Amino acid sequence: MTDGAADLFGRHERVAFQLSGGRDSVAALHVLRRCLPRMTVYFTDSGDVWPETLVVLHMLEQRFGFRAVRIQSDAPGWRARHGDPTDVLPVCATPLGQMVSGCPTRLCTRYECCWNNLMLPMHQRMLADGITCIVRGVRHGDYQTHPVRSGQEDGGIQAYYPIWDWDEPQVDAYLEEHALPRAPWYEQGARHGSDCLTCTAWWDDGRQAYMRRHHPQAWQALRVRLSAIRQALAGDLALLEEQLASRG
Ligand code: SF4
Repeated sequence: MTDGAADLFGRHERVAFQLSGGRDSVAALHVLRRCLPRMTVYFTDSGDVWPETLVVLHMLEQRFGFRAVRIQSDAPGWRARHGDPTDVLPVCATPLGQMVSGCPTRLCTRYECCWNNLMLPMHQRMLADGITCIVRGVRHGDYQTHPVRSGQEDGGIQAYYPIWDWDEPQVDAYLEEHALPRAPWYEQGARHGSDCLTCTAWWDDGRQAYMRRHHPQAWQALRVRLSAIRQALAGDLALLEEQLASRG
């Protein structure tokens, strides 16, 4: 057990490990494997989870002898009501915008979608279970800035990220060294796995090549929805260009 973990379990009765199934969370779980009897592992099933992620989850459960608490949400149902997530939101495709633009496609931001389908259900469960410390496989290099850093407290819950200072090659080497399961898309160039197989956002995750090869039907259906986003964006982008082109 690391010093940080010993201190953590000395101070907290109820510790949650939030497992996504991505390589960072697998490495972090392994770092704290000896603490598994003292923490509860949680996994959010968005209703659109990659089968590959479930395989990783099962392998970890079997090898380390725990059973993750499944938190069920319904991302496809939510998207049908609130719109597909996008990384660039054209105003014409928001609910208010649609009322005046006539745009047939309803869209929302990826953060709105992830919050409602992944983060909020998990957060509510943390509160319901009286969790006071959350462990995640977050790394310092993941984002430009972090809303909560390792060791900080937010709303009475402390965050602890055991691989906070690691970089990506370190994670890969660690998984290799300990023969830990890793979702197959990393080997085919994806930078990170998105939580939902048919997500229309997270354009930066690099999963397209893998998806085209291994989930061709889902990929074709996704392309149709991505094309609708492009079409919705085109009008607003044209107006932006018009603004920039005007002089005087
Ligand atoms: S991964 Fe995509 S579809 Fe899933 S919750 Fe996040 S934004 Fe929504």
